[in-house]
Amino acid sequence: AKEEGKNHYKWFDGTEEAGAAELMELRNGLRRALERGEFELHYQPQIEAASGRLTGLEALLRWNHPRFGQVSPQKFIPLAEETGLIVEIGAWALREACAQNKAWQDAGAAGLRIAVNLSARQFAAPDLVGTVRRVLEDTGLDPSCLELEITENMAMRNENLATLEQLRDMGILLSIDDFGTQHSSLSYLKRLPVGRIKIDRSFVSGIGVDERDEAIIHAMLLIARRLKLSVVAEGVESDLQLSYLLEHDCDEIQGYLFFRPQSAEQTGEVLRRIRHR
Ligand code: C2E
Ligand code: CA
Ligand code: CA
Ligand code: CA
Repeated sequence: AKEEGKNHYKWFDGTEEAGAAELMELRNGLRRALERGEFELHYQPQIEAASGRLTGLEALLRWNHPRFGQVSPQKFIPLAEETGLIVEIGAWALREACAQNKAWQDAGAAGLRIAVNLSARQFAAPDLVGTVRRVLEDTGLDPSCLELEITENMAMRNENLATLEQLRDMGILLSIDDFGTQHSSLSYLKRLPVGRIKIDRSFVSGIGVDERDEAIIHAMLLIARRLKLSVVAEGVESDLQLSYLLEHDCDEIQGYLFFRPQSAEQTGEVLRRIRHR
């Protein structure tokens, strides 16, 4: 009985309750956040390894919560997926990112590409292709300047294939995010309309530390080249990682070594600075 009492006490020790209460408040606040404009996009540049040129940006969601401050997408995206609101939030992010990229292009950043993350729930919702087409029409962004990031699990689902092919046929670049971290077979790379892969940070962080990570990255770069896919390495933080990736002909680099994700305003500054150099 003593043990039971102890467990009971531990279970309700308040920190658990606070966590659950916070999660509930976040979950309940998602719709309001969408309606009141509490979401914001930050942008992280992608750098062409060979030239050092800024070629694209990844749009990353931020939630400016009235009580909790800036909430990480790691926390609220799972809640948005649970409630299904990710479909609307994702559509908002797509429209915002495309409109912003068009504005930057018109201000001189010709050909700049914007990458937007998709959630599995957006594939299950009706008419993802129609949503994307309307956003491109309304914003005037060229489809070749839009990249959509999907995960291996989304790519592997047979029922998503027709959708992916339609998006590719519109001229959109499809990329596999967090490549190598989920359950998948390599054979899907040959039958899917995908143009590039993003090497996950968990492999990049092993460069210079774990030969097995280096072997995996090396193999990914070889297979991508043979399949004519371009490769972005994510989470690049050190010169050592950069030189390994350069040496093995990785196409593009994304990571804190060059830029952290930053607000639209700060990103606009970076784009201006680069152009006037
Ligand atoms: P992700 O798509 O893999 O995005 C990369 C994450 O790595 C971002 O975290 C980015 O800030 C972080 N990162 C970039 N460079 C470095 C680096 O050099 N070192 C380290 N340690 N981290 C780096 P963030 O912004 O917190 O986003 C987390 C995840 O939330 C994303 O992972 C993505 O899965 C999801 N997410 C963000 N925005 C959206 C969105 O609009 N829609 C959907 N469905 N998911 C999103
Ligand atoms: Ca991503
Ligand atoms: Ca990623
Ligand atoms: Ca990730």
